Amino acid sequence: MAIFNLGSINADYFYRVPHLPGPGETLASTGLSRGLGGKGANMSVAAARAGARTIHIGAVGADGLWARDQMMESGVDTRHVATLADTPTGHAIINVDDAGENAIVLLPGANHAIPSETQEAALSEAAAGDILLVQNETLMQAEMAKTARDLGLYVAYAAAPFDASATAAILPYLDFLILNEVEAEQLAQSIGKTPEALGIADVIITLGAKGARWINGSQTRDFPAMPVTAVDTTGAGDTFTGFVLAARDRGLPMEQAIALAMRAAALMVTRHGTADVIPDLKDVDEARF
Ligand code: ATP
Repeated sequence: MAIFNLGSINADYFYRVPHLPGPGETLASTGLSRGLGGKGANMSVAAARAGARTIHIGAVGADGLWARDQMMESGVDTRHVATLADTPTGHAIINVDDAGENAIVLLPGANHAIPSETQEAALSEAAAGDILLVQNETLMQAEMAKTARDLGLYVAYAAAPFDASATAAILPYLDFLILNEVEAEQLAQSIGKTPEALGIADVIITLGAKGARWINGSQTRDFPAMPVTAVDTTGAGDTFTGFVLAARDRGLPMEQAIALAMRAAALMVTRHGTADVIPDLKDVDEARF
């Protein structure tokens, strides 16, 4: 089977600065590094490294071909990543000061202009039983979810970054919902229902260093996190999502899929970086916790 991921692709630009700039201030940066990011791209890389056939549905500008190529090198099928002539690639300008504090400017760019023909062409290759994955850094998630549901796909949604109206619109079409503790709180406040009351077959709440909770109908099961020393939690949730869905796509029971995803996410938090350091199945198999 396969995972079709309608997802964001970002260029993350990390600028080292002596302090975060104030209003009207011009500040010289002492260094720049660039990396592949965006929740969608991270999840696709994680799912591909976890062994799933992963088809990314998205867009970059002419300035983002390197990002598409990096996804391809990680094993992601990028045939349905459109290149837009007049829209820049989504990007984040991340100022990081000497104390590690950051200030981020995010431009959605091409992530908000994924052509409908690109989405339709990708879904025309999907078959019943495949997985559609979406999150909130693109547009049209609910429309895509409805079409995929009608085609018999298993529809998975990561409610991040939290957006009350996007989440409310997609809820009727979901088989799988994943969100962190803060997003679960925001969801409960915005729609007045707990995750247990949503009627979605599988809900996972990730709990950071505490692990994860799986809600399956009236059953709730907690999984403790692997004991590691975290150095950078960026991308932990995206790694978890990619691995858990890749394992489900291979037919593993949810308990085993969660156990594998916890190991992958634990390994991820021991590494500095984002998409470039997402582990693969071999890393996860060999890790000793
Ligand atoms: P992010 O936005 O940083 O990618 P998130 O908020 O979406 O992450 P978290 O709940 O923080 O997601 O973490 C996802 C999973 O990563 C957890 O369920 C857990 O398995 C693993 N994890 C996160 N932090 C730690 C930690 N300190 N030690 C071990 N595992 C961790």
